[in-house]
Amino acid sequence: MIELRSIQDIRRAIRSAHRKGQQVGFVPTMGYLHQGHFSLIELAKEQAEFVVVSIFVNPLQFNNPDDLENYPMDLSRDERHLKELGVDLLFLPDREVIYGENFQSKVTAGPLAERHCGASRPGHFDGVVTVVSALFNIIQPDIAVFGEKDFQQLRIIEQLVEDLHFPVKILRGPLIREADGLALSSRNVRLNGQERVRARSISTALQEIAARVVSGPLPSQEIVDFINNKIREAGLTPDYVAVVDERTLLPTEIGRRGDRVLVAAFAGQVRLIDNQQL
Ligand code: AMP
Repeated sequence: MIELRSIQDIRRAIRSAHRKGQQVGFVPTMGYLHQGHFSLIELAKEQAEFVVVSIFVNPLQFNNPDDLENYPMDLSRDERHLKELGVDLLFLPDREVIYGENFQSKVTAGPLAERHCGASRPGHFDGVVTVVSALFNIIQPDIAVFGEKDFQQLRIIEQLVEDLHFPVKILRGPLIREADGLALSSRNVRLNGQERVRARSISTALQEIAARVVSGPLPSQEIVDFINNKIREAGLTPDYVAVVDERTLLPTEIGRRGDRVLVAAFAGQVRLIDNQQL
């Protein structure tokens, strides 16, 4: 695996892969990698001969300075895993490489970013689409993989690529969970023992409600109330719960099979997100 930090070096490596007729697959991350990230990398490897992973903790997408400050990091462990997985290139840009001294232009996410996490984290998705646009322009991948764990982000990026005609195919990676159902996240390491136990309630509530909708639609409000109650009873503080149309992310009146339930909740200081297709 080669590790590169400059745009010039990256461009040279990508040109060389393309000259060999290789498809370039890309998995952007913020590091502290886990099985969720690895599954995206495996997907990229199935679809592309040359796989690039980036690790960049993007300051522009953190609306909360404490969250940025406390974001976990372990580069040597990440490097070990990426080598084992057979990743071809690791891009490790410094902040100044992505955002030059005179940086001023940003990309704005559209209406898909207005609700849910976008409402709770002002500016977050503008930061995401800006860095993803910059990374796409630097790496020029043929394929890029994003996880369904961040379902709103995934839809926003699919829309970005469609709207701005990025020549890249977006693949969706399924949400990977711990054995007890908790959605894997780099932030889970910040949960203490009690919070970790409480955190299970999110996925349990989502599974219970999905099982109920198998036998017929339910009013969305009933679904929202059920999940809010379950996670409150467990000792978490809900941020939002919404039943939405998969494509528009607009709330639905009735929760039907194929709709998606989005959840964000706080376990202490740690904000957790999860989602489930009904
Ligand atoms: P992050 O490092 O948190 O920015 O995530 C990088 C990519 O990994 C994003 O596309 C996420 O959606 C994806 N990802 C994070 N956690 C999971 C998970 N548990 N399952 C699947 N994909 C994930």
